[in-house]
Amino acid sequence: MFYCRYGLAVSRSKKEGLVISPPSADLLIETLRNSFGHTDFRPGQREVVEALLSGRDCLAVLPTGAGKSLCYQLPALVRQALVVVISPLVALMQDQVAQLRRRGIAAACLHGGLSQEEHQQLQQQLQQRHLRLLYLAPERLKGESCRRLLEELIDQGQLVAIAVDEAHCISAWGHDFRPDYRRLGQLRQLCPGVPLVALSATAPARVRADVIRLLELRRPLIQVRSARRPNLVYQMLWRPEDPLELVLEKAQAARGAVLIYTRTRRGVERWANLLRKHNLPVLAYHAGMDPESRLLALQQFQQEPQPVLVATVAFGMGVDRPDVGLVLHLELPSSPEGYLQESGRAGRDGKPAEVVVLFRDGDRSGLAWAINAAKDPDSKLRNRLSHQQLRLMESVAEGAQCRQQALLAAVGELTAPCGQCDRCRRPVSLIDGSSDAIPLLKALAAAPKGLDSAALGADLASAEEPAPLWRWRLRRLVEAELVADNDCGKRLWLSEAGERFLRQPRPLRWPQAPADLWDQPLCSDLSRHTDATRSFSNSWDGISQAFQAPAGPVTLSFLAPQLTAT
Ligand SMILES: [Zn+2]
Repeated sequence: MFYCRYGLAVSRSKKEGLVISPPSADLLIETLRNSFGHTDFRPGQREVVEALLSGRDCLAVLPTGAGKSLCYQLPALVRQALVVVISPLVALMQDQVAQLRRRGIAAACLHGGLSQEEHQQLQQQLQQRHLRLLYLAPERLKGESCRRLLEELIDQGQLVAIAVDEAHCISAWGHDFRPDYRRLGQLRQLCPGVPLVALSATAPARVRADVIRLLELRRPLIQVRSARRPNLVYQMLWRPEDPLELVLEKAQAARGAVLIYTRTRRGVERWANLLRKHNLPVLAYHAGMDPESRLLALQQFQQEPQPVLVATVAFGMGVDRPDVGLVLHLELPSSPEGYLQESGRAGRDGKPAEVVVLFRDGDRSGLAWAINAAKDPDSKLRNRLSHQQLRLMESVAEGAQCRQQALLAAVGELTAPCGQCDRCRRPVSLIDGSSDAIPLLKALAAAPKGLDSAALGADLASAEEPAPLWRWRLRRLVEAELVADNDCGKRLWLSEAGERFLRQPRPLRWPQAPADLWDQPLCSDLSRHTDATRSFSNSWDGISQAFQAPAGPVTLSFLAPQLTAT
């Protein structure tokens, strides 16, 4: 037996040629205990660690909190050599490096912001072969020096594996596509004999296929674990005109840290100031802040006992605070996939945590405008997909289905109702909406060039049935594909299916519209949410309710945006 240049134990066999042996189970557990203090692996980890140590590529889709990073950190320690990690954000790299150093593990990151002194220190560590984890920004791969570094590491037999963190960023189908990640396609050519591991918390099937194809993974071990998070209590509430009281109540009742997301930088500043006036220990974070202030906010969020952080979605990828008790979105999130990641930052310690979305019907047009403003001229497909994802997210928020079940279905995972979200605890009744649909469809049939949804809602409005209610009905018709809409949902046309419906009407099952749309007092929302946030220990009665409830609108219309996007 001998050790190959990747640090693997290799023996020769007459029958099988070269055989790469995985390390003994004892060595893995011993290293796990000594370096991380764990007595055993979490589901999915061991398989990935063993595959990497035997030289095999891997794709690991493990939910937030499942310990993805250990999958590539442990092989470096077992082999006493180096794993290179590609990571999308400098703040994320720095955080991981700081965590590893606290555990006494030699780690460093290489990005454009390093000083000359830091560069020299890094070179020294590499020469002395002390380093175990080296984090790289994807753009480093375009530099000749980085390529030479990888070649040298391979020649010295130092490189155990290369890990691509947040691997969904490589796929144009992913919710967080990063053009720089496309560079990672070169890794296979640069490091042909080194096992690659791609990791993500949420990667639907077509994103997984993209990751395997674009990274050229060879016969990879594929570990996909359910993204279901049984300790998260989902709620999606119609946002009151002034949501301050509701936000304060939620933030004050939450255990541990609180994450509040809002869409714009101005929103972050405004809400941070507002909550500070109510004596909450508020931090702010958005991409417009200078790097030092962002790093400080990140550190304070990790260290303060019960911080309330108001941020744009720029914050959070890879942030590993286990006791986040509340993740609250002040507007509709832009996609189910992104929302699963963002809400997944709650309750990583496995204890109950609340995840709340406040939304109104205007949110989608605001987000659609942002998608159009930031559109990638090279990718009509991505733009179209973003709008479809937004439409799907709106359907989850306004639909009758279990929140967690609907979110997971949107990323291709079929599960039972969660039993504890607001929909499971208080199922909404389904009604036949066909008689409400007919006046809307007839008006659209008379307008071949289409109509503005706000104008149509206003035309049909009465004291009993105000315009927001008609617009809500129009959105149900878009969901059922009887009406087509433009990207922001403002302009509408009758579809062929709508024409057929007018010739031959049939029952249309949709949820009872929320009481707020009849301009009823918004306190109905508050009473609902208070009731729905009863203690976690009461959730069992919610489970029985959920299974008594009708199956919910898991209809073709709900899934249609996904089907048409393929
Ligand atoms: Zn549920």
